[in-house]
Amino acid sequence: MSSAIYKYCPVCSAPLAEKHIYHALRLVCSACDFIFFLEPKVVTVVVVEHVGKLLLGRRNIDPCKGLWSFFSGYMERGEKVELAAVREVKEETNLDVRLENLIGIYSEEDNPHVVIAYQASVIDNDVSAMAAQPDEVSELAFFAPEMVPPLAFPIDTDIFRDWQSTQR
Ligand SMILES: [Zn+2]
Repeated sequence: MSSAIYKYCPVCSAPLAEKHIYHALRLVCSACDFIFFLEPKVVTVVVVEHVGKLLLGRRNIDPCKGLWSFFSGYMERGEKVELAAVREVKEETNLDVRLENLIGIYSEEDNPHVVIAYQASVIDNDVSAMAAQPDEVSELAFFAPEMVPPLAFPIDTDIFRDWQSTQR
């Protein structure tokens, strides 16, 4: 990922310049000592299982609006990753879930995203409070694993495959 989208030092507003420092090309301030370390972004994805079915949300935002996906979102800086995962499900479905297993951790070269995928269950199996939060999803539905529709992102498909490999 190019770092050239950042032009000015966030500390002193002087121009940034690319320099090879600490084993990589980084943006360094031309006036003060600031080094702009561009960090990875952590995304949590949650596969919610309920009585043998998987809960999916139909995306109400682009990209991939209208397609089905697992529940995902960015972890906040300073947040605990497990709590971020649970929070995202709550925000999209109004359900309280408990994380059961780590499905996998996914990253690729030149992509700032690190995806951490969990399998979760609904606390007390109580789905009475379930409601799609229209800011993010237009519809929620349970699918038997063999009926899962085409998923929004390649990462969803990878996670679904890896979740299936844990099932016996
Ligand atoms: Zn500076």
